[in-house]
Amino acid sequence: MSDCLFCKIIAGEIPADVVYENDKVLAFRDINAQAPTHVLVIPKVHIATIEDIQPEQASIMGDLFLAAQAVAKVDGLSEAGYRTVMNCQEGAGQSVFHIHLHVIGGRPLSWPPG
Ligand code: 5GP
Ligand code: ZN
Repeated sequence: MSDCLFCKIIAGEIPADVVYENDKVLAFRDINAQAPTHVLVIPKVHIATIEDIQPEQASIMGDLFLAAQAVAKVDGLSEAGYRTVMNCQEGAGQSVFHIHLHVIGGRPLSWPPG
């Protein structure tokens, strides 16, 4: 999608601090990090929200979590732990409409998130 911020990052039109990449996903550091590690993992195919995922795209969700695992390894969080969050729709805090898995860690995280 030409007017999607994250599609532009995938296309290299907007720079990003890339942590991990494969043929299916891209992981880069959030521009407004909420923790020492705050990485966004996105599919290379444009999907606006969780509500838009089609059954034939189900494996993409697994790809996102395997990439989160890779990100945790890069940042040394595999043992210490990290949080994965995907906001769906504005009411839940989604502000960029290309699905992204937040990988957050490196500091104590409270629960529930509020
Ligand atoms: P959401 O609010 O949709 O769950 O998360 C969107 C995230 O994208 C936010 O945490 C925000 O800081 C991040 N973000 C927005 N614009 C950019 C950008 O241009 N580059 C990067 N790296 N992150 C961005
Ligand atoms: Zn997109």
